[in-house]
Amino acid sequence: MNTIAPTPEAMPEGPVDCREAMSHLYRYIDNEMTLDELERMRTHLEKCSECHYEMITAQDLRRLLRRSCIERAPNELRKRVAAKIAELREEVTTPAS
Ligand SMILES: [Zn+2]
Repeated sequence: MNTIAPTPEAMPEGPVDCREAMSHLYRYIDNEMTLDELERMRTHLEKCSECHYEMITAQDLRRLLRRSCIERAPNELRKRVAAKIAELREEVTTPAS
């Protein structure tokens, strides 16, 4: 039987596995978890370096996005974004008809 819920609101009972950790990653980052969930999430992240890495990455991204809305993006990032845009533009700017 298929028991996979599309977007589970709460984590199921028992230890958190990678799939659960990943599907609740943003709730963890955004502090939208209950203390119990938080605790179990932390337990998993402590022993699972893959999920821990995903969490750090997502957290950085979140922070970056949030900051870039408020302040101006740091120079380093602007340079990187500009380079990326130029790169994309070159691909797109093939002969315009
Ligand atoms: Zn994991």
